[in-house]
Amino acid sequence: MNTAAKIMPSADPVLSVEKLRTSFMVEGEWKPVVRDISFTVAPGETVAIVGESGSGKSVTSLSIMRLLQADSSRIEGKVFLGGRDLLALPENEMRKVRGNDVAMIFQEPMTSLNPLFTIGDQISEALLAHSSMSKAEAKAETIRILEKVRIPSAASRFDEYPHRFSGGMRQRVMIAMALATKPKLLIADEPTTALDVTIQGQILDLIKMLQEEEGTSVLFITHDMGVVAEIADRTVVMYRGEQVETGDTADIFHRGKHPYTRALLSAVP
Ligand code: ADP
Ligand code: MG
Repeated sequence: MNTAAKIMPSADPVLSVEKLRTSFMVEGEWKPVVRDISFTVAPGETVAIVGESGSGKSVTSLSIMRLLQADSSRIEGKVFLGGRDLLALPENEMRKVRGNDVAMIFQEPMTSLNPLFTIGDQISEALLAHSSMSKAEAKAETIRILEKVRIPSAASRFDEYPHRFSGGMRQRVMIAMALATKPKLLIADEPTTALDVTIQGQILDLIKMLQEEEGTSVLFITHDMGVVAEIADRTVVMYRGEQVETGDTADIFHRGKHPYTRALLSAVP
């Protein structure tokens, strides 16, 4: 039976990555950087990808969302989101997936916020695009969401531009955006790496809230096993572009076999 024609029951994974392989054109040759990565994210589940800097974590997430420059990169394999093969979608359909189905939070949140619009307008726009609210309702709901992600004096910050927010506050705004758009999947690529430890913990708590209250599935990328222990149900360990271990987070911690996994674990206090 043709897999594409199969009807997907609701218990199917939100995200299914099959033999993902990404290569870059480097000095006239295709150089594979990510090789044969396969994993799933079930509804409401948080899956971590962990690995040291340069192991291919960001390339994996950017490949899933097709955000790499098309002329110098090649992505092979399959990426199913809610049963649709993202790698086979036309670019205009893919743009809708990025806008509606997936929220992304990066290490530097400025790349995801539009510097020309106020925080309040950006979240309100997202709400208006995803519901039948009036403008006034969207404004009230935006303030409620900003309070929910614990932005102090939320109502008075509605009209401020992104550059007026600190790094930790911008990550809160990104989580607020995800609360507004209610994506199927949140991809967070080192969202806490640039933040102080206390603020890191607060952002992780907000991502957990998003997962618990909205049932959002999360793909969480980090180099930090401590963060993995804190947030992930299951974990994929990457090393030099390859997937060296995959399993329940507790199993990885207690029975992780690959020498690289053991080395990562030995760095956890
Ligand atoms: P991580 O996120 O795990 O730190 P990356 O996914 O950013 O690592 O990078 C994995 C490897 O791919 C690195 O060796 C990096 O230099 C290489 N790489 C990333 N982007 C490009 C690109 N556009 N062209 C060529 N090589 C790249
Ligand atoms: Mg990275």
